[in-house]
Amino acid sequence: MLRDKDMERWKKINELESLEDQRRGSMQWKADYESVCKFILKFFNTKLFSEDEIMRIIGILQINGHEVPTSDPPHVALFYKASFLEHSCTPNLAKSFNKDGNLILWAPKEIKKGSHLSICYSDAVWSTGDRQRHLMQTKIFKCQCPRCLDVTEYGTNYCALKCEKESCRGLMLPASLNDWHKEWTCMECKSQVDKVYVNNILERAGSDINAMEKTKENCLKYLQHYGKWLPGNHYYMCEVKLYLVQQLGKQVNELMVLSAEELNMKLEYGKELVELYEKLAPCEVRMLGTLCFEVHSAIAENTRRISLQTSLSPKELLEESLLYVEKAVGYLQYESDIFVEGHILKQAKINRDALKMVMRM
Ligand SMILES: [Zn+2]
Ligand SMILES: [Zn+2]
Repeated sequence: MLRDKDMERWKKINELESLEDQRRGSMQWKADYESVCKFILKFFNTKLFSEDEIMRIIGILQINGHEVPTSDPPHVALFYKASFLEHSCTPNLAKSFNKDGNLILWAPKEIKKGSHLSICYSDAVWSTGDRQRHLMQTKIFKCQCPRCLDVTEYGTNYCALKCEKESCRGLMLPASLNDWHKEWTCMECKSQVDKVYVNNILERAGSDINAMEKTKENCLKYLQHYGKWLPGNHYYMCEVKLYLVQQLGKQVNELMVLSAEELNMKLEYGKELVELYEKLAPCEVRMLGTLCFEVHSAIAENTRRISLQTSLSPKELLEESLLYVEKAVGYLQYESDIFVEGHILKQAKINRDALKMVMRM
C-alpha cells in the first residue's frame, strides 16, 4: 500500500484534484461506487480504507489519469507535474510516451512568451458537441476555450452542415456555443433548422461510419452519399477521408499499382487533412506525422511515374516530397519504436536522407 510504503508519493497524489464534491451523485460516480468501491471493500474484505477515501482516489484517477499505450489494453497513470496543465481543445503541448511509459510533453509549434501551457483533456479530433459532452461527463466543466467559443472553429466549419435549401451554398451552424442544441442557421440565406433535423443527419452519418467496413469502395460511397448534407471539412467526412488515405496504397508495392486517379485522391485528401488539422489540432502529432508521411509517399510515387516518362525528376515535386517527409520526422520525433509511429519515423528519416542525396546530385 502506497499510503504505508511511500508517504511522500501518497502525499503528492493527495494534492491532486479529485472534484469529489462535483462528481458525487453523478452517473459516473454511482457506477464507480458500485463497480470499484464496493468491490474493493468486499473482495479484499478490508477496513484499511473508508468509502470516502476510495471514492476520492477514483476521482483523482478520473480527473488526472492519462492512458498509457505501452500496454495492451492501455493502463492509466498519474503524472504529478502534468496534472497542473490547463486544458484547451487546441492545446500547445503534444503528448508522447517513451517505451518505459514515461510521459514526454513537447511543443510542436513555437509558444509565445507568457502564454499558458495546455494539453487536451478530450480528443482534439472530435466535434465540438462530443468534446463538450465528454469534458462535462469526465472532467466536470464546460469548456470555454477559443476553439469552442468560435462555432466555425477558426473558419474550418468542422461541425457545419450544408444549408437545407439545395439552391443555397451556405453552411449551417448554431449562433453560439450555448445554442449548440437549439436551432442552426444558414450563414448565407439565414434559413433555420431545428435540433431534430441536425441530430437526424448526424446520427445516421455517425452510425453508418461505425457500421461500415472501411474499404476503398465503401469510403467513396460514403463521401458521395453524405456529401449532400456534410461539407468536405465536416468531421465525419474527414474521418472517412483519413481511412481512404490510409487504405490507398497501404503497402509500398500497392502504391505502385494505384491508378492515376487513386494516387491523386490520396495526395489531395492527404494534403487537405494536414492543412485542416494543423489549424485545429496541431498537437495531434501521431496523426499528423503519419498523414505527412502518406502525402510524402504519394508525391514520391507521382515523381517516379513522371520521371519514367520524361527521364527527368521534377525538382518541385522532390522539394515538396522532402517538405512533407521533414514534417513527418518533426511530428514523430519522440515516438518510440515499440509503436507503429516509431517505425514510420525510422522510415521517414531514411527517405529524408535519400531525398537530400538525390537533390544534391
Ligand atoms: Zn474547448
Ligand atoms: Zn442557406
